[in-house]
Amino acid sequence: MSEIADILIVGGGVMGCSIAYHLARLGAGRVILLERQAICTGTTGRSGAIVRQHYSNDFTVRMAKESLHVFQHFADLVGGECGFTTTGMLVFSAEQGVEALRANVQLQQEQGVPTRLISGEEVKDVAPGYSGKGVALACYEEDAGVADPMATTSCFAQRARDLGVQIYEGVHVSRILTDHGRVTGVETVQGTFTAQKVVLAANAWSPALARTIGIDLPIIATRHPMLVLRRPDDFGGRFGLHAVCLDLTRSIYLRPDIGGVTLIGSSENVLTESDPDNYAQGLTEEEIRYFATMGKGALTPLARAVPRGNWAGIYDDTPDYHPILGRLPQYEGLYCAAGFSGHGFKLSPVVGQWMAQYMTSDQLPDDMQHFAYERFERGQEIRPRYNSGVLG
Ligand SMILES: Cc1cc2nc3c(=O)[nH]c(=O)nc-3n(C[C@H](O)[C@H](O)[C@H](O)COP(=O)(O)OP(=O)(O)OC[C@H]3O[C@@H](n4cnc5c(N)ncnc54)[C@H](O)[C@@H]3O)c2cc1C
Repeated sequence: MSEIADILIVGGGVMGCSIAYHLARLGAGRVILLERQAICTGTTGRSGAIVRQHYSNDFTVRMAKESLHVFQHFADLVGGECGFTTTGMLVFSAEQGVEALRANVQLQQEQGVPTRLISGEEVKDVAPGYSGKGVALACYEEDAGVADPMATTSCFAQRARDLGVQIYEGVHVSRILTDHGRVTGVETVQGTFTAQKVVLAANAWSPALARTIGIDLPIIATRHPMLVLRRPDDFGGRFGLHAVCLDLTRSIYLRPDIGGVTLIGSSENVLTESDPDNYAQGLTEEEIRYFATMGKGALTPLARAVPRGNWAGIYDDTPDYHPILGRLPQYEGLYCAAGFSGHGFKLSPVVGQWMAQYMTSDQLPDDMQHFAYERFERGQEIRPRYNSGVLG
């Protein structure tokens, strides 16, 4: 197999597929997406897919707000069912995080996000099942929700195909090809693909590809566990959903799913590097006990829940827990959309729009400048307000 394209996308997760769709919409010429396994077999398929606007910087709030609008109107704006459901979302803070919470809520309100501070006692009235015990201050973001990460990615991929993008699954890119300071394509096990522009959207696998041309991407892979509990039938039955919760007092997040289950994950940064191709994909007994205990502390009916399964996924953490979006300056024609640090799913609609606009017109969307690769050298790292940088 040996093909010529205008743009090559490496990676068939939600980012690669959103970029592909948006490029096709802009008439970017011949676009080929290369995925080493199958669409959505990377991090996206293991995502919590919580869609919230609670962020620490005005530009990330705007990005999340715009993306939420796409999730809410996905069938009209993209096409197909992304499974978005509004659940509302709580953030619980202990005493030491109260100032950061207040500041973030004010920031969101200034950006037009419907969110409000509530006391620990008010939590149970706003979101049945949550006790609010030990919570110094909370907030409630009413239009946050959850989506289906596989459905979302499949829709982006299908719409991209409809508009002429070729998506090859089972094609492993082994290295990037360059000539005299510019990208010329990629080499794969199946042959060479030639293009003037290549975008790395390969999550925690992007650094290995960048290293093939001497670029050191500041991204490390970290393992993040997720426990699934089946809730007792008398708490919403098989079809009920509860509010999402970022419980910073227990360093967990809870997310309802269909079928009467709740997913519980960790909101802590994980500073130990994992091998993205060889890490523990299941949870230990100790991890299961830990998340079950923390979960029932936050959401009382979970005291009667039973384990329903678990998995671990990989985050692509950057030093400031925000992605690298845009050009990699070392080579003409080389772009990157990676380093989402565990909170990228919700941003995928805007990431696709921004990357496509920039790659086709060279016009950098205003808010995208904050995510430049060069920010780490220039001392312009993005500052999240919480200790849990992975919350953004
Ligand atoms: C447990 C967990 C919970 C999460 N919860 C949330 C949440 O609630 N909300 C939120 O917004 N985000 C969340 N995230 C983060 C979010 O899921 C990710 O930021 C997002 O899915 C990343 O998408 P991606 O397309 O960059 O990566 P991926 O989905 O990993 O896609 C990259 C693709 O590249 C392919 N690839 C790799 N190397 C090569 C190669 N050499 N050649 C060809 N293809 C290659 C891989 O096979 C993979 O399919 C969570 C993540 C995890 C792990």
